[in-house]
Amino acid sequence: MDCIFCKIISKQVPAKILNETSHSICFLDAFPLTNGHVLVIPKNHHKKIQDMSSAENSDLFSLVHTMMSKVDSLTGSTLLAIHNGENAGQEVPHVHVHLIPRSKSDSAGPVHSMFNTSLKLSDSEIEKYYNLLKI
Ligand code: AMP
Ligand code: ZN
Repeated sequence: MDCIFCKIISKQVPAKILNETSHSICFLDAFPLTNGHVLVIPKNHHKKIQDMSSAENSDLFSLVHTMMSKVDSLTGSTLLAIHNGENAGQEVPHVHVHLIPRSKSDSAGPVHSMFNTSLKLSDSEIEKYYNLLKI
């Protein structure tokens, strides 16, 4: 499998590994957006969150929880991001959670600043997506 994150897990590619659990590892992002940018990933290759088992998912977010205390202590604010699929901005097709320390002086804004427009939905459109998504 030609996956850069699988190669980090199998130690074929070096990485600054910070923490490890049975199903997950955490390491420094090699091209950090801010100081302290880390990634938490499952050890098994899955492209999307919903492809992971419940045990893998719990383990991943448990490690995110552990690492968040450390990362958040750097600036006091952290962006938690997952690009779940190529059209959502996922460049490496192996699930990864970004923990990116944020500060007032960085160049990023709130999530709405990623989009040029926001939708004005009619009641029927809201109802449509409510019915499509509710479980
Ligand atoms: P995404 O754009 O959400 O798929 O994020 C992929 C992330 O992987 C980016 O933040 C990259 O900087 C990071 N990355 C790519 N290659 C490596 C590597 N060899 N070691 C650590 N991080 C990497
Ligand atoms: Zn992989």
